[in-house]
Amino acid sequence: MNKHEILKKYFGYDSFRNAQETLIDSILSGKDTVGIMPTGAGKSLCFQIPALMMDGITLVVSPLISLMKDQVGSLNQAGIHAAYLNSSLTVNQYYKALEFARQGRYPIIYVAPERLLTEEFLDFACHTRIAMVAVDEAHCVSQWGQDFRPSYLKIVGFIERLPRRPVVSAFTATATKEVRDDILDILQLRDPLVMTTGFDRGNLYFGVMTPKDRYAAVKNYLECHPGNSGIIYCLTRKIVEEVCDRLRQDGFLVTRYHAGLSDQERKRNQDDFIYDRIPIIVCSNAFGMGIDKSNVRFVLHYGMPKNIESYYQEAGRAGRDGEPAECILYYSGRDVITNQLFIDNNQDNNELDAVTKAIVKERDRERLKKMTFYCFTNECLRDYILKYFGEYGSNYCGNCSNCMTQFEQTDVTEIARALIGCVKSSRQRYGTTVIIDTIHGANTAKIKNYRMNENPYYAVSSKVPTYRIRQVLNHLQLEEYLFITNDEYAVVKLTEKSEEILENDGQIIMKLAKESDRPIKESGSKGRKSKSSLFKEGEFTEKEEALFEKLRTLRTEIAREEKVPPYIVFSDKTLTHMCIVKPKTKREMLAVSGVGEFKFEKYGERFLNGIAAWEDG
Ligand code: ADP
Ligand code: MG
Repeated sequence: MNKHEILKKYFGYDSFRNAQETLIDSILSGKDTVGIMPTGAGKSLCFQIPALMMDGITLVVSPLISLMKDQVGSLNQAGIHAAYLNSSLTVNQYYKALEFARQGRYPIIYVAPERLLTEEFLDFACHTRIAMVAVDEAHCVSQWGQDFRPSYLKIVGFIERLPRRPVVSAFTATATKEVRDDILDILQLRDPLVMTTGFDRGNLYFGVMTPKDRYAAVKNYLECHPGNSGIIYCLTRKIVEEVCDRLRQDGFLVTRYHAGLSDQERKRNQDDFIYDRIPIIVCSNAFGMGIDKSNVRFVLHYGMPKNIESYYQEAGRAGRDGEPAECILYYSGRDVITNQLFIDNNQDNNELDAVTKAIVKERDRERLKKMTFYCFTNECLRDYILKYFGEYGSNYCGNCSNCMTQFEQTDVTEIARALIGCVKSSRQRYGTTVIIDTIHGANTAKIKNYRMNENPYYAVSSKVPTYRIRQVLNHLQLEEYLFITNDEYAVVKLTEKSEEILENDGQIIMKLAKESDRPIKESGSKGRKSKSSLFKEGEFTEKEEALFEKLRTLRTEIAREEKVPPYIVFSDKTLTHMCIVKPKTKREMLAVSGVGEFKFEKYGERFLNGIAAWEDG
């Protein structure tokens, strides 16, 4: 079989995505190969398909049991023999799997890096033909990455012990240069083909909101998207508990995850989420690595993470199946302070000497600042993220809250002058709240204590609502007309550009949302209130939505019988496609994206029957 036939027969797909073919061809030509592609791009197929075509066994090194289980489960469902060797097996199971492997039953074997240099495993590997070693999540070899695994350093020693050097391939979604160089060096790749694709995830909608009541906003979002599976990230364990409890009280089916729970509870809650028994998980950033669930339709951030890297990684867990999904960050000014505390109390850096520690701290603060600017900017959010990672986006993506909001150019020079003047006249000693309250003319104890009610700029902008004043202050910071110190006091300071504004002719124009647009923006992204946010508005009739629900239920049933997560039976994308095609025959069913022959034999009939019954109903 050639690669196209394998793609269709086992995986049920008609065509390769951009980079996949290049990577597969490179591996098949015997070259070491590196694929750097964003989450959901389809890296697994790049080593799985060659594995089925090469002469010998492919070993896949993977960092986590859950990832191995997920991928082996998927392969088995597609009718491909694969197994994993890791600590989740009992000794007996392990020897049995090795025995089967020796007999050549598995073209693909997933193995934990810790196992590689054990005696039994080496014995097996040296007496079989190993065609390829594929290193998945290859950034784990690098200390620069967030997920360094010392055991990944064993890979090279293992390859050296083999009688014949196999092809070595490596895959990751981490794009920084340090990590990439580490992968090439540490894995000692030989003249590899390195393929990096763009980091854009076109199917993800990005949004930022600054609601007065964050909980109410999140609740509203969930009400508008019933039945969808999603993740809600919170900044601290305590907030995880609070949000989870409140949502339960409000009648939502949710579970929770953070590092303070017992191993047992964490595992149970994670499984409930992955197996679609509970659609929503509220969690800290401890939840993530190893979550390959493809049908996550939204990732909400109840608070701003510490940097763009973390944000993009967490948000990126949405929409791995390539279908539309939403990533919304609910921002509040307090998040900056919380994150500053995290940075100041970071225990990870304890071994560092004082100078390095200070450098790391400064770098973390700088990254936090860039994250904060993401929440302020009125420009395209996708563009902002891509630029951060060194890519050029277009200035308009049409699929983020900024691109979807109508802005108007507004002259805010008066407010800007008041802010800068207030900072200057009070000798650059106060934080944002004091400055804003002063020009707004607030009558608080703090203002009186500081005698800011005697400041010449007191109440000069009394008619402007405080949220607007804050927007202008944020804008001034973004454009470097003002500067906020990076320490815990967050004092507003002047910059070289400040004087321009005070000296009359400077003018500040900023993009502000049209007032009439605000309510729409704040209720979430526009017009996507359909049950499954998969469908572009108008594409699915009510009756078709009913079909989708029906097929989804059938999928859950089958998943229970097979003891695999539902998305491994068929992805959301496949179900959606089924609702569009409404196949009546085997041939028509095989034309649905994601339906391969093996899966058709297993449960094609049941889905055909389901669709037929719906047509009659
Ligand atoms: P990655 O490891 O890059 O994050 P995966 O390998 O897990 O991504 O693939 C993500 C999803 O894309 C899976 O559901 C997979 O079946 C699907 N996929 C991969 N290649 C294709 C393709 N050529 N056509 C359609 N879907 C694909
Ligand atoms: Mg992967």
